[in-house]
Amino acid sequence: MFTIKDNLNAKTLPEALQYLKNNDCVIVAGGSDILVELRDKHKENLSLLSIGGIDELKGIKLVDGDIQIGSTTTFTEIIENKLVKENLPYLSECLKTIAAPQTRNVGTIGGNICNGMTSADSAPILLCLNAELVLEGETTRTINIYDFYLGFKKVDLNKEILTKIIIKKKNYLNYFGGYHKYALRNALDIAIQGVSVLVKVDNNVLTDVKIAYGVAYAYPKRCLETEKQLIGKEITDELVESIKELVLKELKPIDHFSGSKEFKMHLASELGYRMLTEAINKAI
Ligand SMILES: Cc1cc2nc3c(=O)[nH]c(=O)nc-3n(C[C@H](O)[C@H](O)[C@H](O)COP(=O)(O)OP(=O)(O)OC[C@H]3O[C@@H](n4cnc5c(N)ncnc54)[C@H](O)[C@@H]3O)c2cc1C
Repeated sequence: MFTIKDNLNAKTLPEALQYLKNNDCVIVAGGSDILVELRDKHKENLSLLSIGGIDELKGIKLVDGDIQIGSTTTFTEIIENKLVKENLPYLSECLKTIAAPQTRNVGTIGGNICNGMTSADSAPILLCLNAELVLEGETTRTINIYDFYLGFKKVDLNKEILTKIIIKKKNYLNYFGGYHKYALRNALDIAIQGVSVLVKVDNNVLTDVKIAYGVAYAYPKRCLETEKQLIGKEITDELVESIKELVLKELKPIDHFSGSKEFKMHLASELGYRMLTEAINKAI
């Protein structure tokens, strides 16, 4: 168990930021990750900052064509949102692979990003979408999700609250693709590997491609070098096949009880190939 010294159930962002500045505390959004982790670590005298009750951190809106998702928006709210279904159907489908309805009703997209887990299902799609993260602390800064992941469970967050995720119109308009979660069960299972591919196609040319993996590196990993080798090329069977070898140069899966390194290398090749094929078929 853990003992709680203090808990602020913040109602506004300024109130939360003030508490964060003055206290050594743990941020709790939906609590589906952090409360389990704190219990397992047998933490004593914890100060908790609950941000789930702050209205301005919730909801999804369209601003000048860009889609803004409040960090404490739950998976269920995103899955059911009309804007997301129409413009980012692959995000909606991806989030349906997370846990079971009970967890999707409390788990938030911000918590999924900030926990820094390589298995976070939302991460590969958000990497492909070049999502921008707005972080508020003593100052406000916006960073690309690509720069947010620093190492194993390590993210670029320093006494800050992730307030919203911005998906720019130029990064979703005319892109097609999806996310595949490879796990042993369809529900309540953590990914053995996850891959997301988004493409833009014009006249049988791959004008853009974004590829990202979960559980194939210490953190969610975008394959920029592979993308470079594919962009601007005419779509042929050989080109699509080439992803199988290319991604292996960028990924570093490890041996784990969920599967051997060799098995995950095989998965990375095969799933990358299948998702690229599927994305191209959707685009043409
Ligand atoms: C039964 C079960 C099944 C699960 N299955 C899956 C699954 O299939 N796929 C998957 O990806 N995840 C899964 N999870 C993990 C979890 O539900 C998700 O990662 C969820 O998105 C976490 O969101 P949360 O709001 O509950 O985060 P919390 O637990 O509240 O927080 C997670 C971490 O992020 C920090 N944090 C949260 N919000 C912010 C913010 N706005 N700003 C700064 N820091 C913040 C917290 O301090 C903490 O370190 C599962 C969990 C459970 C309990």
